[in-house]
Amino acid sequence: MSRSHAQAFAPPPESAATRRNLVGLSRAELAAAMAELGEKPFRAKQLWHWIYHRGETDFAAMTTLSKEFRARLGERFAVARPAVAEAQVSRDGTRKWLLNLPDGQQVETVYIPEEDRGTLCVSSQVGCTLTCKFCHTGTQRLVRNLSPAEIVGQIMVARDGLGEWPAPAEGRQVTNIVLMGMGEPLYNYDNVAAAMRIAMDPEGLSISKRKITLSTSGVVPEMERCGRELDVNLAVSLHATSDETRDWIMPINKKYPLKMLLDACRSYPGTHNARRITFEYVMLKGVNDSEEDARRLIALLKGIPAKVNLIPFNPWPGSFFECSDAATITRFADILSAAHISSPVRATRGDDILAACGQLKSESERRKKNERAAADL
Ligand code: SAH
Ligand code: SF4
Repeated sequence: MSRSHAQAFAPPPESAATRRNLVGLSRAELAAAMAELGEKPFRAKQLWHWIYHRGETDFAAMTTLSKEFRARLGERFAVARPAVAEAQVSRDGTRKWLLNLPDGQQVETVYIPEEDRGTLCVSSQVGCTLTCKFCHTGTQRLVRNLSPAEIVGQIMVARDGLGEWPAPAEGRQVTNIVLMGMGEPLYNYDNVAAAMRIAMDPEGLSISKRKITLSTSGVVPEMERCGRELDVNLAVSLHATSDETRDWIMPINKKYPLKMLLDACRSYPGTHNARRITFEYVMLKGVNDSEEDARRLIALLKGIPAKVNLIPFNPWPGSFFECSDAATITRFADILSAAHISSPVRATRGDDILAACGQLKSESERRKKNERAAADL
């Protein structure tokens, strides 16, 4: 593992806090900001290209704009990302960025390179209001929504770190986005949608909606809108095959129980055999990993173009559960396969930098907890 700290990154200019950040504005909002300056709409188009295609943060370097206009932009606006507090690289190439937000909160973004793709795992909230029993993020007390700039800024930070500006049409490093970091994206739908619209824009970050997956714990009332408006791939954290178990490990199930959730999956817009819904299933020893569970899961998924992602449970300090044995996971996967349900077991990546699913919890929270623990001694 290697770490580099904030000193390695240029600090934002002194006046950055007083200038309006252009990152996170929609095309229409950017055009409105230019209109306020008395500029024509094509200026917004030019800026968009510099910000999201070229990754430029310094107005002075935007050489297709007149010198006078660049100077005026610099007085009022900034092109800012969240500040990198720490960048870590795992033995297996996984990278994690810990980001400082203006109000002192922190979030994490993880990049996972694989042979045929590079996936960026993006956070949608600081912490999470849901309290799934197996998830470290769910134990974080402070929670707030991330703004569109803070969400799309994570993609830009990754591109900065990977030196990927402008992104090539072929052979890119960041090819896929998964909203599987900290937070419940459907509890922050508007900001997530604004950020994903920017990410998808073909003249900017240009990440196709087919390469974006939103993971939800099952916020049923927002699912249809997400499919209709954003048309991104859907992943659902299922994790149990009976309401009794799911009520226990995922309290949101009491509000939106299994039948309601699976009906919403059945009617998720744009789902067909070539574009299945991914059901995430964390393997918890003695809780949800029996052969009966596997058979119940097959029955539950009937009629839904589905694949199942079996996730070995990642323990964290103080976690109550244990991961199922390897043989149990294989047996579970075999039962699903025999019913023609694709069920890959997710490889654990970046475990030396705590970059795995469900382990994302801000460093400042960990530190505070450690300080409290030390004070109690
Ligand atoms: N809130 C959203 C997205 C973030 S969590 C959701 O719950 O879907 C991303 C995935 O990691 C979810 O499937 C979540 O259930 C899973 N996860 C959480 N804690 C985990 C842990 N300790 N081990 C393995 N997977 C975990
Ligand atoms: Fe929140 Fe998802 Fe963790 Fe549940 S699993 S607490 S919804 S981040």
